[in-house]
Amino acid sequence: MTDHAPYASDPSRSRGRRYAEPPPANRTEFQRDRDRIIHANSFRRLEYKTQVFVNHEGDWFRTRLTHSLEVAQIARVIAASLKLDVDLTEAIALAHDLGHTPFGHAGQDELNRCLQELVPEAGGFEHNLQSLRVVDELEERYPAFNGLNLCFETREGILKHCSLNNARKLGEIGQRFIDRTQPSLEAQLANLADEIAYNNHDVDDGLRSGLITLEQLLTVPIVSQHYDAVRIRWPDIPEKRAIAETIRQMINTLIMDVTITTQARIQAANPTSADEAKACGPLVAFSDEIRLQADELKRFLLKELYRHYRVSRMTTKAKRVVRELFEAFLMQPELLPPEYRHDDRASQARAIADYIAGMTDRYAMVEHRRLFQIDESF
Ligand code: MG
Repeated sequence: MTDHAPYASDPSRSRGRRYAEPPPANRTEFQRDRDRIIHANSFRRLEYKTQVFVNHEGDWFRTRLTHSLEVAQIARVIAASLKLDVDLTEAIALAHDLGHTPFGHAGQDELNRCLQELVPEAGGFEHNLQSLRVVDELEERYPAFNGLNLCFETREGILKHCSLNNARKLGEIGQRFIDRTQPSLEAQLANLADEIAYNNHDVDDGLRSGLITLEQLLTVPIVSQHYDAVRIRWPDIPEKRAIAETIRQMINTLIMDVTITTQARIQAANPTSADEAKACGPLVAFSDEIRLQADELKRFLLKELYRHYRVSRMTTKAKRVVRELFEAFLMQPELLPPEYRHDDRASQARAIADYIAGMTDRYAMVEHRRLFQIDESF
């Protein structure tokens, strides 16, 4: 293994796959995981799923696919500086959103609510758990097993959060939530890279959509600080370019900050193996100062963008679509494609959740029209 620190995850010492397979010939185990994720159906579908904006609102907004690529890019850079396993980091980053429903968090919240209210015995819906379910069960591409049969380390990284209740049912992979230990440094990093990516691209998409203005944004110190520096250096460039440069510099600052802070924390804790690193508490982090600044930006985005009335209209419609689909399928399972039908109510509800969660924004809207409008094709 080249250029790995002692605390990095080592692909030659993986805890293995659920179904034993011969080792890959010309790549590491974690590279094989990353490659399997890229070829998965659920990965391609990320192109038509969105976080804040519905897919048809404009071609220029991020989708979950471009978001995942940005997360992977940011995570890879930091992983290389810290001498972590770049491929494991990338695999986790690319897979982290595979379990997301259509219509972003609104869709997920509503699907969870439907399950909790109507079929409590099925357990609710958690998107991290669903990402794991996608790679463990739902992908159907290999003759010998369901799912992608990924390494333990990749699966553990994908399961970012999990309720204690569900963790107990998961066995080995849920154990860390019970033991209160951390996932690998690679997983911690993919998680923080997710935050860096979405805060910055939501600023970008928010401005582009016209839902937030530059004037508003400049009340947030981390933004104004970088924007002012750009304007001092390039007073005459067009606004669009100045904004792009501001965002680029913000991402750079955050990447540098995580790298330096994490390096120092690793040095202080001094783990001598990947397993030791997990027991050290969270090591991948922003500095206190940047953490405060990033939180301020998050609060701004929550208030001004995610709760913007035009986003709320979309969110409300999205929830209605998800609820009406869920209720219609639960009441009349014969409306479902045959492979999604089950005899007992809990399995039926879970299959409906899988079906809905797998839909793209557009497919969910088309399916909703097919079920509720008489003039549409069936
Ligand atoms: Mg994400």
